[in-house]
Amino acid sequence: MVFIPASRHIMRFSLVLLPLALGGAPLRCKFFAWLAIKNRVCTADRLAKRGLPHPAVCPLCDQAEETIQHVLVSCVFARQVWTLIFHDLGLPSIVPQPGCTRFSNWWGQSIKSVEKAIRKGLNSLVILVAWEIWKHRNACVFEGVVPCVQQVRQAMVEEGTVWCLAGALALHDLLLWRLPVGS
Ligand SMILES: [Zn+2]
Repeated sequence: MVFIPASRHIMRFSLVLLPLALGGAPLRCKFFAWLAIKNRVCTADRLAKRGLPHPAVCPLCDQAEETIQHVLVSCVFARQVWTLIFHDLGLPSIVPQPGCTRFSNWWGQSIKSVEKAIRKGLNSLVILVAWEIWKHRNACVFEGVVPCVQQVRQAMVEEGTVWCLAGALALHDLLLWRLPVGS
């Protein structure tokens, strides 16, 4: 995994530059994270309460009722994504465990458990990965994509490169420091 500026990302650079100047992630992604913490994302549980069409089971694992907490941390698919990424980063101890049921609790505990120097970068990374898991869920629901952990990882690398180009310095430092070049 390499986070080196690439020319194909330049066009997107200007689109995310301003929001990123305000922090380590685009505002739309921070907003998504806030909605997830507040249980306000339109997953099956919320759609069902409103009598709206919804997936019968989680489209990522095909095993459990879909809630945003499940999609981001409880789902076996999500845990595979986090495992892949945190092992790459040399942070396997913060991978969500099977008993983990709340995204915000896991996030807070993870931040506390790592050294201060990487906390800001880790905050950006958690938002980035959660955002990519959610986008992948939507692709499965609306485009018939088959769930693929490697696809989420690749999307995370590409989006993360754009964020780094646009000024997510702490994320950039975390990724370059932790990831072996060329992996
Ligand atoms: Zn699932």
